[in-house]
Amino acid sequence: MSSHGTDKKRTLAAEVREATGLNAAKCYQCGKCSAGCPMAEEMTLQPHDMMRLVQNGERARLFEDGSIWLCLTCETCTARCPNECDSARIIDSLREIALKQDPDLAPKSIRAFHRAFLDQIRSHGRVFELGLIIQHKMTGGPLFQDVFAAPGMLARGKLALTPRKIKGIKEIRRIFDACAAASKEEA
Ligand code: SF4
Ligand code: SF4
Repeated sequence: MSSHGTDKKRTLAAEVREATGLNAAKCYQCGKCSAGCPMAEEMTLQPHDMMRLVQNGERARLFEDGSIWLCLTCETCTARCPNECDSARIIDSLREIALKQDPDLAPKSIRAFHRAFLDQIRSHGRVFELGLIIQHKMTGGPLFQDVFAAPGMLARGKLALTPRKIKGIKEIRRIFDACAAASKEEA
């Protein structure tokens, strides 16, 4: 059974605390995180807004907005916070909580990139960029965005034509299998 049934009874702040050990209530809305965030201009909800919505338990508003998916996890917000809120980790946990609640909450192109990235790591132990780009575009990414950059990158040797596996690929696959088994048990 999905954990969502029990999630409804818990506050969002409690879920975040359970996932991270962090207390979003510590945020006093000084805005220093948002002032330093390199993605703030692209976000409709800036980091300090997200902290406030966690405090208020406004789950729908947070998850219906795309801002949590724009965070680069660069941790500038965390470094700037005068009260050690670790908003980068909290935002990361919001993505985990959103995906547990409903995988379709993530925008389609982000889901496609996430899938393509993990498939590359499982297959080769590293990212094979050309394979990643092709899979991402075929499964929901923006089809024609940046296509004109590809020939130049190929010509300059920036994109390999064939993948190369790492030595420890069997260990990587064991990690993937263990994660898949654990998530089946959790379901
Ligand atoms: S971790 Fe995310 S929210 Fe924090 S500064 Fe970087 S991009 Fe912005
Ligand atoms: S810097 Fe810290 S205390 Fe200030 S708004 Fe951001 S998270 Fe809240």
